[in-house]
Amino acid sequence: MAVRNLRCRECGSEYPLEALYVCERCFGPLEVTYDHDHLLSDGGAPDVEGLRRRIQAGPQNIWRYADFLPLVGGPPGPSGRLASRVGLPAGCTPLIRADRLAKRLGLREVWVKNDAANPTHSFKDRVVSVATARARELGFDVIACASTGNLANSVAAHGAALGLESFIFIPADLEEQKILATGVYGCKLVAVKGTYDDVNRLCTELSAERDWAFVNVNLRPYYAEGSKTLAYEIAEQLGWKLPDRCVVPTASGSLFTKIAKGFAEWRELGLVKGELPKMNGAQAQGCAPIADAFAAGHEVCRPVKPDTIAKSLAIGNPADGPYALEEARRSGGSIDSVSDEEIREGIALLAQTTGVFTETAGGVTTAVLAKLARRGDIDPDERVVLVITGEGLKTLDAVRDTFTAHEIEPSVEQFQTLVEQAPDPSRSVAALAAVGG
Ligand SMILES: *Cc1c(COP(=O)(O)O)cnc(C)c1O
Ligand SMILES: [Zn+2]
Repeated sequence: MAVRNLRCRECGSEYPLEALYVCERCFGPLEVTYDHDHLLSDGGAPDVEGLRRRIQAGPQNIWRYADFLPLVGGPPGPSGRLASRVGLPAGCTPLIRADRLAKRLGLREVWVKNDAANPTHSFKDRVVSVATARARELGFDVIACASTGNLANSVAAHGAALGLESFIFIPADLEEQKILATGVYGCKLVAVKGTYDDVNRLCTELSAERDWAFVNVNLRPYYAEGSKTLAYEIAEQLGWKLPDRCVVPTASGSLFTKIAKGFAEWRELGLVKGELPKMNGAQAQGCAPIADAFAAGHEVCRPVKPDTIAKSLAIGNPADGPYALEEARRSGGSIDSVSDEEIREGIALLAQTTGVFTETAGGVTTAVLAKLARRGDIDPDERVVLVITGEGLKTLDAVRDTFTAHEIEPSVEQFQTLVEQAPDPSRSVAALAAVGG
C-alpha cells in the first residue's frame, strides 16, 4: 500500500487516514504521506522504466497515477477498489503547443494545459474524483462542499454519477451559468448570502455536526492530492520531462502547491530529471491576498473582501496561502495579480491565439503570463506551461459586449455593403496588443 498516514505540515504529528484535516496539537493542516518502497526494485533503487510502463498501461484518466493517490483500496466487492474507480473519470486533458500565443508574447515555447476538457469542464473534477472515492472508502453516504462555482458543478455531478446525496453551498451572487450547471444534477443547492469565506465558515461548523464528507473541509487532505495529477500529466505529456515554468491560477493556494508537490515526488523517484519548475501564481487584483503578500515580502496577514469578475478565484482567506508563498519564493517564481480589464483581455488573447475559450480564472492566468513576459521575467529559452483550469461558457458575462456581429438581411448586396465594405467592428484585437506588449 502506497498511502501511509496523515501528517501535520507544521509540527509533524501523525494521524490515521480518517476524515481529519486539522492538527489537534497546533491547528496546522494535515497532509497525506506515502511510502513508495514497493515501487523500488530489490536493490532499493527506483525501477524507472518499469514504473513508467506501469503508468502507461493504466487507464486514460487520473487513476493511471493511483500509486500516488490517497486511496487504500478498501475491501473487495462493490465498495472496494474497482468501485472507487467508477463514476466520472477525470484527467488526461490535452497539452497543446501554443506557438501563436508564444510569438505574441515574445516567448519561444508555451504549452496550454486545457483542463476545461474534464467532465464538468474544470480541474475540480480531479480533486472531487479523489475525495469522493476516499469518502466511499470511509463509508460516507453524503458528500458536500463549500464552492466558488466549479467545485459545486463537480460535486453535484459526482454525487449523481455515484448515487450519493450531495449538499452544495455557494455564495448567492455566483454566475448564473455555474448555478444552472449545478442544480441540473439534482443536488441540494444552498445559496448563502455572503462571500465564499462566509460559506466556508458555515461548512466548517456543519462538518463538525453532520456525518457528511465535505470534500474541501474534512476530506481536504485527500481532495488536495488530486491536483498532483496535473503535474504528472504535464510531465508525461512532455515525454517524461519537466517544464521550466508553470503559471497557475491561485485561490486557496492548494492547486498551486500540489502541482509543485507532484513534480517534486516524481523527481525524487527518478521518473523525471533536472531542475524543478519555477512556479508562478496568478490572482485577480480584486482578491489578491497571496500576490499582495508576495509583493510586500511578508506573510498573508488579514483576509480581504473579494471584488472581481474572477469569482472562481475569490477566496479572501486562503488556507494554503503561506505554503503557496513559500513555494513561489523557493522555486524562483512569483505570485502576481491582474485587473478585471486585463482578465477580459487575457480571455480574448488565449481564444484568438489558441482557439481555447477559458473562464475568468484562465483570463487571470493568461494575463499574468503576458505580464511576466512583458516584465522580462521569462528567459526566451524557457519551456512554459500555462495551466487553464476552467471553461469560458461558464462565465459568459466576461465577454459580453467585447465584439459586435454584423446584422444583415439575407442578401448579397447587404453582405457587400454592411460587411465587406464596413470598418472592422472588432476592437478586442487592439486591446490585446496592450496585453501582449
Ligand atoms: C478552484 C479553482 C482554482 C484554484 O483553486 P485553489 O483553491 O487555489 O486550489 C483555479 N481555477 C479554477 C477555475 C477553479 O475553479
Ligand atoms: Zn500540528
